[in-house]
Amino acid sequence: MNHKARKRFGQNFLQDMSVIERMLAALRPEPGDAVVEVGPGLGALTLPLLARLDKLAVVEIDRDLIARLEAQQLNGLTIHPGDVMKFDFAALARELAGQTDHSLRVVGNLPYNIGTPLLIRLMEQQAVVKDVHVMLQKEVVDRLHAEPGTRAFGRLSVLMQSVFEVTPLFTVPPVAFDPPPKVQSAVVRMKPRSDAPDTDTLDALQACTRLAFASKRKTLRNNFKGHLDDNALTDLQIDPQARAETLDLSAFHRLAKQLRLA
Ligand code: SAM
Repeated sequence: MNHKARKRFGQNFLQDMSVIERMLAALRPEPGDAVVEVGPGLGALTLPLLARLDKLAVVEIDRDLIARLEAQQLNGLTIHPGDVMKFDFAALARELAGQTDHSLRVVGNLPYNIGTPLLIRLMEQQAVVKDVHVMLQKEVVDRLHAEPGTRAFGRLSVLMQSVFEVTPLFTVPPVAFDPPPKVQSAVVRMKPRSDAPDTDTLDALQACTRLAFASKRKTLRNNFKGHLDDNALTDLQIDPQARAETLDLSAFHRLAKQLRLA
């Protein structure tokens, strides 16, 4: 039974065994781990994962692929049909409570059309996440771990680096997939930081970065107009004429704190 890859679901199926093995080697799954795979597709990662785990949860949107997986009646596999953007990771973690360590290990070769929003969602649910090992467009991975002052540094870098330790692992060429995507891919590991901001601080950071990067070419003075004036910025040791991409994480955290008070 052949499956025609659906573009709207970002379907690029892994066909290179060596990439699958490298992802597993990075993940080092242990039998009792609470692993959830996003987008199992035809099972390229799912089957080798199941061979190493007691249980595996998967979230898949494509009904044909769900039917194929169900037909295989794989031991230990729980299929959650539907859109991962609506998936309640916290509820799954609660369901798995009782397992030795029920914080979630999230894995997947992510559909590129929802990569960034899904990362934001995982960031908001980081309290139930143990770690994340995912394949994304390389350009997104570059943004995730970019340093201030570099071209790739932006809102996503600030938010994700505030919540996670971000480690880029390896690059994957288009030929590793069927059909091949147009761009390079990369696998990244993210682990919640022990000093990750609480929900209120994270909300403030989201609001603050939205303002700071609203117009990349504008100075902070202009982007914060109506919110923080020159004096407030200078008091935070931030040059009002600087641009957001030159600030380090601690400057964004000072700005977020100030905006909460303002
Ligand atoms: N894991 C498989 C592999 O590596 O060969 C498939 C990866 S493919 C890049 C992305 C998978 O995510 C597809 O199976 C696709 O149907 C599924 N998918 C796409 N959008 C989704 C969504 N919003 N929620 C859940 N699954 C989704």
